[in-house]
Amino acid sequence: MKKREYSDGIINFRDEQFICNACVSERYLKGIIIKWGKTGTCSYCKKKGKVRTLGFLVDKIETAFEQFYERTPEEHDEFHNPHDAWYREGNDVIDVISDIAGIDEKIAKDVLDILQDKYFDWENHTMGIENEFDKGSQYELKFPHHGDLQEKWNEFKTLVGKRDLVSRNEAEAILTDIFSVLDELLRYDKKTVVVAAGPKTEINVLHRARVFYDEDKLMDALAIPDAELGTPPAHVVKAGRMNWDGSPVFYGAEDVNTAVSEVRPPVGSYVAVASFEIIRDLRILDLEKLNEAFIDGSIFSHDELKKRQKAWFLRRFSDLICIPVMPDKENKDYLPSQAVADFVCNKLGLDGIRYRSVQTSGPHAMNIVLFEKASEVDRLDTPKDTKIEKYKAHSDEEYDSPYCVHEIRPKGSLDKITTKGATTATLRVLVDKIVVNKIEAVSYVSKTTKVNRALYRNCEETTEDREDKFDFFTSSL
Ligand SMILES: [Zn+2]
Repeated sequence: MKKREYSDGIINFRDEQFICNACVSERYLKGIIIKWGKTGTCSYCKKKGKVRTLGFLVDKIETAFEQFYERTPEEHDEFHNPHDAWYREGNDVIDVISDIAGIDEKIAKDVLDILQDKYFDWENHTMGIENEFDKGSQYELKFPHHGDLQEKWNEFKTLVGKRDLVSRNEAEAILTDIFSVLDELLRYDKKTVVVAAGPKTEINVLHRARVFYDEDKLMDALAIPDAELGTPPAHVVKAGRMNWDGSPVFYGAEDVNTAVSEVRPPVGSYVAVASFEIIRDLRILDLEKLNEAFIDGSIFSHDELKKRQKAWFLRRFSDLICIPVMPDKENKDYLPSQAVADFVCNKLGLDGIRYRSVQTSGPHAMNIVLFEKASEVDRLDTPKDTKIEKYKAHSDEEYDSPYCVHEIRPKGSLDKITTKGATTATLRVLVDKIVVNKIEAVSYVSKTTKVNRALYRNCEETTEDREDKFDFFTSSL
């Protein structure tokens, strides 16, 4: 926006008109007038109260326009079909001013007079070109932008690759800045992006799969599902999307199919899937809900623009974290999501992250990682001297499944399966919900594109221009 100095008369007008808190209904501006205003008589309602100059209000409105609004084109562009009707986008400048500040039309007109004077350009005016804040001009909300946060994210990715303490602190500072708006983020249903999981919530069971290449090992695991199908012990844990090497976390899925897809089983393998009940209350960062998050503060607040930029950036955050990673690049490409998980766990104090599966699609293809502090599986309380027999039946006739685990307990022991009730445990295996999937085929969703092969003949190198070195021969084979 092109500005010039105010005319003398306008400067006086700015400083000599007063507006009271009762004449402004926008809550932030009203609050500032009450807090910082002096006692005086309002030039509009003529009542005594807390007042500030009209100039104060004009400056606030000018900044809000610069940050959040843009003037719409006066005429249609060259692509417009002349047979179609054309309407100018946006709303009349007076209405926008009155609306955003919550002031009546007379005050809005005075505000506009001052701004029109400041942005008036004589040359434009004589050529019939509209200036900013001309009467009759129309404005609309600017498309949101994420500011410089994409560059900051790129810097973050470089920093997490370095692994030294200084870089780690710098990377953490970037996340701290981006996530500083987390508590203020809202979704359209006015709920937050941190969701509850556990008893009496919608997220109360998670499914975890493990792949086996032979049935003996599978049977061993089915015998002690709490240990073998639950969170693996630290010494066998390999780095994953949301955990470092040796840091045990529980990767669960919201449905069985997603759990199976996530372990990427080869054809011929067996996948055991166990369901785990979440037995205590957890707080989870929901990356999927972040997609629709927004900030609903006052556009007159000094940090509102930055907050909205962060919200806009975080809307795309799950796309940055949930990217498919190739097996040979896992070490490097998982670093950003691992660092984010570490931050969400240790700095935000949350128990896990809910995110979309990259292995499969559909509304229920969601994963939840529970961090180490929320990953303990309560052990089955098997009485001493219990014998566990496991075998694969030759036919399905005896039981409805060939995979059999029989627990033979000593006389006098409880006749139901219970867990030990560890106070630190978060999960309890549902022993009657374990299934085995024999992988008979794997189906892919792919996009096929043709390979374009062309033939060129190398010419004599008489010129420096590379393009001239080749004589296009044919492109059809
Ligand atoms: Zn007033």
